[in-house]
Amino acid sequence: MQKCLSLLLIIAFNHNAQKISNPAALQSIKIIAFGKTDLDAGVLQQQLNKLSRVPVTISYENKLPATAWCEARNRYLADSLLVYLQQHKKMKGEYVLGFTAKDISIGAGSSNWGIMGLGYCPGSVCIVSEYRLKHKNTGLLQRQERLLQLALHELGHNFSLPHCPNVNCLMVAAKGKMTLDGHKYYCSKCSAVLTKKGILLLDRQRV
Ligand SMILES: [Zn+2]
Ligand SMILES: [Zn+2]
Repeated sequence: MQKCLSLLLIIAFNHNAQKISNPAALQSIKIIAFGKTDLDAGVLQQQLNKLSRVPVTISYENKLPATAWCEARNRYLADSLLVYLQQHKKMKGEYVLGFTAKDISIGAGSSNWGIMGLGYCPGSVCIVSEYRLKHKNTGLLQRQERLLQLALHELGHNFSLPHCPNVNCLMVAAKGKMTLDGHKYYCSKCSAVLTKKGILLLDRQRV
């Protein structure tokens, strides 16, 4: 009986935790660019502004927080960066997109993997890194386009979209491959989920 009660308490706690983590309705998107970057955070802001019906603003911070540094792998821990961004969120309904040139990763010890981006699903903070967008020596313009697609992918997770089986959808899982080329957008199924939630993103042809 004792065990059963504990289990029930854990389930109740998890359920509550999930409810609390559900973010407020989207009112604005704030890009925080950390340190010097090769790609242009201002261009990303303009592109997102053209696609979104909410304002997209930008602010700059000198460097990533030291609390997220992983000395053993010489790169930053993306989940710690999300915690930092969450703590620095100022307004209800504001979604925060961190942007850095530094390499970011998930996992501990030998299971630490470099990644391009990470976002809570659902949630209101995500982080993207340009470090792995250089894949196959692409030019600046193409990398800037990859950055936009990556940002839309991580924001999609924030908006509760899981990975999508449609290879032409930007919510497709990367699985170690470069999937950010080809001027992709949310497929009709993913777009329908966003529209139902009142997250109105405009047609991709505009950017
Ligand atoms: Zn993803
Ligand atoms: Zn999709």
